[in-house]
Amino acid sequence: MRSLFPFLSLMSILLLRLLPAASPARPTPGAVLLDLDDALYNSSSTTWRDFAKFLNLEKGSEVAGVCDLKRYFHRFGYLPPSDNFTDVFDSSLESALFDYQTNLGLPPTGKLDSDTIHLIMSPRCGMSDSHSHSHSHSRAAVGLHRTQHYAYFSGKPRWVRPMPVTLTYAFAPDHMIDYLSRDDIRAVFSRAFARWSKVIPVNFTETEDYPTADVKIGFYSGDHGDGEPFDGVLGVLAHAFSPENGRLHLDGAETWAVDFRTQRSKVAVDLESVATHEIGHVLGLAHSSNKDAIMYPSLSPRSKKVDLRVDDVEGVQALYGSNPDFKLSSFLEEEERETSGVADTNFRWWVPPIFLALVQAIFALKVKRTFIL
Ligand SMILES: [Zn+2]
Ligand SMILES: [Zn+2]
Repeated sequence: MRSLFPFLSLMSILLLRLLPAASPARPTPGAVLLDLDDALYNSSSTTWRDFAKFLNLEKGSEVAGVCDLKRYFHRFGYLPPSDNFTDVFDSSLESALFDYQTNLGLPPTGKLDSDTIHLIMSPRCGMSDSHSHSHSHSRAAVGLHRTQHYAYFSGKPRWVRPMPVTLTYAFAPDHMIDYLSRDDIRAVFSRAFARWSKVIPVNFTETEDYPTADVKIGFYSGDHGDGEPFDGVLGVLAHAFSPENGRLHLDGAETWAVDFRTQRSKVAVDLESVATHEIGHVLGLAHSSNKDAIMYPSLSPRSKKVDLRVDDVEGVQALYGSNPDFKLSSFLEEEERETSGVADTNFRWWVPPIFLALVQAIFALKVKRTFIL
């Protein structure tokens, strides 16, 4: 029996390695910060990387650079303008933190905890969160209770055209990027527009006539004349204007990716994810506090999020109505299947029976040998 012990231990280790983790892998907050720092410190821009030093800073403390954090909160709509932001963690900063955490789906602690610092430092959309007129409330729909988190710009603007609406889009001829082919960029945007068209009676068609296009897309760097300068690598990734303006701008300093298998940069940003999000703004959606929604403002480098969630769908359909070919019930079923399907494929159901069979075989052999001896 003693001779079996090493074998069984080995099998147990093997079994544990093969079984899926009991809970989703989640890096420790410290590790997250280090990863992000690494990516940010290797890039050239933004003061956001310095915010890591404010981790767990107590209210009432005074530390150089807190004024930059206050400017960040002012920029995204959480603090009123001031000519004199101080370096003191005061009550106004605490209340901005509460609002920010609520708006971004974090536990509202009013503290500079690890999750909050991580999110503040993460790349995001340049649109302020303050335009958001939240529609967050629970309601029963299609037999499910869920909370709506979508929001609109103030005044709830949308494209007012006879239905079905057709909007044209064009790329700024002098504001493209040279390391991605025009065809690749066109394909990305075509897919991104199609996702929205699938759910609302709005069609998008590409035109070469840039000056007359409804939606004008381009890559711009730094100050590009619309009062919303871009900030270099990471930080702000893109912005778009509410209806019926139609401008959709991407930060030309980012490493835009159409395929992470070929674009290996640690700071690469998925073009399709950002395009899909910004088109939501073009249509009239503001930021959602649902982390899974396309309209959530933050996106990590090297991550892809292109599928509309029910929060996005319900938000945009409240503006334009539903595409007659779209069925919300099938969409919900599909979403449900995708979510539960992931866990099923990860679980190696065949491991425990094989393990037990092996143990039984070893015991049988051992018993037989005892008798022979
Ligand atoms: Zn946005
Ligand atoms: Zn712009």
